[in-house]
Amino acid sequence: MPNPDFAVHCMTSKKIANIFLLVSNGELTLIDTGNSDELENIRSLVDDAGHSLDQLKRIIITHCHTDHVGSLAALRQATSAQVLAHENEAPFITQESPPPTPRSGIIARLLHTFVEPLSRPEPCSVDQTLKHGDAIEGTGLTVIHVPGHSPGNICLYHAEGRALFAGDAIINMFGKMRGPIKPFCWDVREARRSLTKLAELDVQTIYFSHGETVLEGANEKIRSLAETLNKG
Ligand SMILES: [Zn+2]
Ligand SMILES: [Zn+2]
Repeated sequence: MPNPDFAVHCMTSKKIANIFLLVSNGELTLIDTGNSDELENIRSLVDDAGHSLDQLKRIIITHCHTDHVGSLAALRQATSAQVLAHENEAPFITQESPPPTPRSGIIARLLHTFVEPLSRPEPCSVDQTLKHGDAIEGTGLTVIHVPGHSPGNICLYHAEGRALFAGDAIINMFGKMRGPIKPFCWDVREARRSLTKLAELDVQTIYFSHGETVLEGANEKIRSLAETLNKG
């Protein structure tokens, strides 16, 4: 990223889900927390970036799935960081509501019924709820609500750096960029429609929760994906 006041550090949790540490004007922000038992690895990520975990100011959660909130409760206990999530997602993170039942087909519903209860993370309180278009103080990030993968799924856009933190709205796996995988979606059609919001942004770099960062040509790739998935 060109702005020297904005650095991105990344680690991959259990070889699956990326966790991003943003250092912006000396403030530390974490995007997602990976699977469970990552507290010490996250501590190392922060140490390696030249900071300490007790400086962590906020944790932004893209959505409630266990590979994104697995270490959230432990991290919140270990730090004084504030937890931020979309208002539609917060009840699933606190577990005031059960995880949403998928509308997207039989496999998604089977996974929801039989697998999800076995991997449910510890509940955690949410300190600040977010809405589409909110600017998150101290980060340069804007909230983009992209429902579908889950009801309160968000991406985070850094306009100055032309960077998008895609969460699970777009993944970069199995050799290409694609929309979220249907069996893991609450509503796959809505997830595809939400991609059109991302196609309106000016993006150079995409940081994925799943897959390698795309450093160039992101605009064209997002637009072509949104178009392909919403044909017909
Ligand atoms: Zn997910
Ligand atoms: Zn995920």
